[in-house]
Amino acid sequence: MSYTPSRADFDRYMVPNYSPQQVIPVRGEGSRLWDQAGREYIDFAGGIAVNSLGHCHPVLTQALTEQGSTLWHLSNVYTNEPALKLAKALVERTFADKVYFCSSGGEANEAALKLARRWAFDNFGEYKQRIVSFRQSFHGRTFFTVSVGGQPQYSQGFGPVPGGIVHGEFNNLDSVRNLIDDDTCAVVVEPIQGEGGITPATRAFLQGLRDLCDTHDVLLVYDEVQTGVGRTGSLYAYMEYGIEPDILTSAKGLGGGFPIGAMLTTDRVAPALAMGTHGSTYGGNALACAVALAVLEHIDTPEVLDGVKQRHMLFREHLEAINHKYGVFKEIRGQGLLIGAEMATEHEGRAKDILPLAIEEGLMALVAGPNVLRMAPSLVIPEADIAEGMTRLERAIARLVAAK
Ligand SMILES: *Cc1c(COP(=O)(O)O)cnc(C)c1O
Repeated sequence: MSYTPSRADFDRYMVPNYSPQQVIPVRGEGSRLWDQAGREYIDFAGGIAVNSLGHCHPVLTQALTEQGSTLWHLSNVYTNEPALKLAKALVERTFADKVYFCSSGGEANEAALKLARRWAFDNFGEYKQRIVSFRQSFHGRTFFTVSVGGQPQYSQGFGPVPGGIVHGEFNNLDSVRNLIDDDTCAVVVEPIQGEGGITPATRAFLQGLRDLCDTHDVLLVYDEVQTGVGRTGSLYAYMEYGIEPDILTSAKGLGGGFPIGAMLTTDRVAPALAMGTHGSTYGGNALACAVALAVLEHIDTPEVLDGVKQRHMLFREHLEAINHKYGVFKEIRGQGLLIGAEMATEHEGRAKDILPLAIEEGLMALVAGPNVLRMAPSLVIPEADIAEGMTRLERAIARLVAAK
């Protein structure tokens, strides 16, 4: 007899670090999902900005199955064709000259931080090691990245945190003027703070950081794990600002659902990750790179990127119409298909209460902190699915308001 797992099995067999919703999706196609009971859902969550082309996109399924019957994995004792093609494609489309592959966003940031420290060590000396980051930022869950991240609850209780890390206030250049000096090796910033509440950096802020970095020989690191690969309507969010980094990290949407991370940098900085200084067994895995190349080539076209901007306007119009009726949001913000709706004062902290109601109505969404409803759907979500998803969201919000 075949065994059908249940949500209770999660509590029984899995470490309690997550608290997943009660339904278990079993199948996905485009921007729709179906659970064990055959109930259908519209997906505005996109696996947390990962399923950049929805579920089981034919282009990705083809890349995966073709590579899957050719070659999966070699380790870095050998290189492989998909990794070389993906590296070339990323270099040709961005500021970067060199690429390092790994398997997640946290690992990409870990590589970026180690590279920055090592670059400063090699070129200046041990004194140049301070890392400047921002409060509310999120850079992953490895011990180095939770320490650099600006949410202390993620590093609490794990023992002494790595030293030499300071935090300024996001979008407040004055708060970092005294932190960035000749002892600083890197400034790490998300062009749009994702987990922290979908807060875009101002142009003046990023330009100010770039200038301070240039003055003090500091590397500017963009964490584009959430904002990258078309999410904002440009291939990378920095392209909207026209301000280039020295290091950029990418993951989430890059694999479209297949785990991969990448760190991009320049010829000036890359030599510090010399032979033997860093590595990852899975980095550059052939299956992951084949899928990511298909994602990148499909997304980096005017049709898809312009489509993201058009869909942004649709999301905004729908959310504003809902807000006009129910007055639940204080602000609707974000770029492209990374959208946050901050709860109005009388609904403070209730964004997370929308999620189970939305699921009951057949919609999957996200939060970014307790007070911001977040949406990060497929970049090619059909208009009809947006409209139907918004009808369901409106029903959930009507219930939220009624329950007050
Ligand atoms: C999700 C995220 C990470 C961490 O990525 P993982 O793949 O979970 O390790 C890092 N930075 C940002 C901005 C993210 O959104």
